Amino acid sequence: MILRGIAASDGIGIGKAVCVREQSLDYSAVKYGGKDGEKARLQSAIAHFNDKTTAMAERIRTQVGEKESEILTGQIMMLGDPYMQSQMEEAIDAGQCAEAAVDQVCTMYAEMFAGVDDELMRQRATDVRDIRSRMLAILLGVAGVDVSHLPAGSVLVAHDLTPSMTVGLDKDHVAAILTEVGGRTSHSAILARALELPAVLSVPHAMEQLQDGDSLIVDGGEGIALVNPDQATQAQYLAKQEEYLRRKALLSVYRDRETVDAEGKRYALYANIGSPAEAGAAAEAGAEGIGLFRTEFLFMDRTGAPTEEEQYEAYLAVSRIMAGKEVIIRTLDVGGDKAVEYLGMAHEDNPFLGHRAIRYCLDNPELYKVQLRALLRAGAQEKNIKIMLPLVTSLEEIRGARALLETCKAELEAEGVPYHRDIPLGIMVETPAAALIGDLLARECDFFSIGTNDLTQYTMAVDRGNALVEQLYTTFHPAVLRAIRGVIAAAKQAGIPVGMCGEAAADPRLIPLLMAWGLDEFSVSASAVLATRAQIHRWYTAQADQVAQKAMALPTASGVEDCLQSAVHE
Ligand code: PEP
Ligand code: MG
Repeated sequence: MILRGIAASDGIGIGKAVCVREQSLDYSAVKYGGKDGEKARLQSAIAHFNDKTTAMAERIRTQVGEKESEILTGQIMMLGDPYMQSQMEEAIDAGQCAEAAVDQVCTMYAEMFAGVDDELMRQRATDVRDIRSRMLAILLGVAGVDVSHLPAGSVLVAHDLTPSMTVGLDKDHVAAILTEVGGRTSHSAILARALELPAVLSVPHAMEQLQDGDSLIVDGGEGIALVNPDQATQAQYLAKQEEYLRRKALLSVYRDRETVDAEGKRYALYANIGSPAEAGAAAEAGAEGIGLFRTEFLFMDRTGAPTEEEQYEAYLAVSRIMAGKEVIIRTLDVGGDKAVEYLGMAHEDNPFLGHRAIRYCLDNPELYKVQLRALLRAGAQEKNIKIMLPLVTSLEEIRGARALLETCKAELEAEGVPYHRDIPLGIMVETPAAALIGDLLARECDFFSIGTNDLTQYTMAVDRGNALVEQLYTTFHPAVLRAIRGVIAAAKQAGIPVGMCGEAAADPRLIPLLMAWGLDEFSVSASAVLATRAQIHRWYTAQADQVAQKAMALPTASGVEDCLQSAVHE
């Protein structure tokens, strides 16, 4: 049997299933001990929760990293929220025991977060559910799921991998992770990648289909799990696992190397980040700059827009971490699948085609100016910041943004505040409109970065998040590749640098094409930096040209993909 899910963390894990089923948190037999008694029980459970969670956070901080431990400290903050606690106390005042108060309030928050169409908010729902079950376990005195003493070679199977569960994991005894929910950017996926454990998430009904002791092979790169495989399959995957580990070990030699092809031609290899904290990890991973800072993450998970000062601090922090290296900061890319509630954006039937990104910002100049001023000011110190506009479709948008930028400069000048006068202004080329008029746009901006995630979606007329049309979402389609080739050519013609920050930049099959066409900069996730550098190293110009010619003569996406796949294996 083969189970399919989301490929969340690369690698091959082979072992035996350990299904983590929830312990009973039934509190129906608990007797109400009076207002004061129940409130005292609640407070002592909160104190206990905080002690345990602080200890876990400290452990993961030293073993995994700062960012991962923040998931747990975030839970302490959530439960510490006076409003949340007063809601629990109100329930106690109304005659509920402490367990019922925790259950009701946490469930209400979880449902509220889960109902928001935003991955970060849904993650908060997971956090509150985690708080709920751990608080109930403390109040009821039942032992939590003990994943810290699993037998060696366990494949952890759970409905959802809560952050606290992941933290408790004895990494050396876990071969892989399999869950029924969670996306590539969920906390469990982030933690699995940080622990370097292969993980496949969102496998429907995994808990029903699997039993403790089942033999499992989890292929985190392909997003599949093979259940009770025969000997031949086991041998095949053992070989694949060995090959994966061998390659990973080899990659570390690229950590401090330059990004050059086989003939010594240089390329820029940057990283994509979503927060200043990730900039450190990117530098650590060997990135030579930041090719995309998705600033919308600064605007999410809060009740109001960040102030100019807050934004300034965030941009300056990245700029300093990357001193001497380029930092491309994309202005607010909200809308589409990234809703920010407090911005009051209206409901739209086709949000991906709607009032989003640069369109929204130009129509809300007061909001946009705050960001532009922060960028201009942060750019004054290291002078390594470049501003990038998302979802451009026409020249007027570049002109509109430039005009606002000039207004901001004039204001800062009048106020005597230092700013970067010549801050470069570039655009993401991620719509067919922009790709088709690349020559016109290149005359009025300082650089291009190709956003293949959206360029593929819009060129193919396929919602990038809709599983039903997933097969049509392919960057290998000749239409998408022609668009990319045309954009690079337009940039070359105009003499401006051109990069790529969509996921395609890290696809080893596409790398020779991009090299052949003259892409200057590859911007990939921090974890893909070394593999991308290694791929670039192995290509000679003539070879890459040949592959590009061969691939572009083919009429179908599948034909192109096969052709490029075989070139990678050459
Ligand atoms: C893209 O569209 O390719 C891109 C890099 O931006 P995002 O994934 O944030 O839309
Ligand atoms: Mg995009």
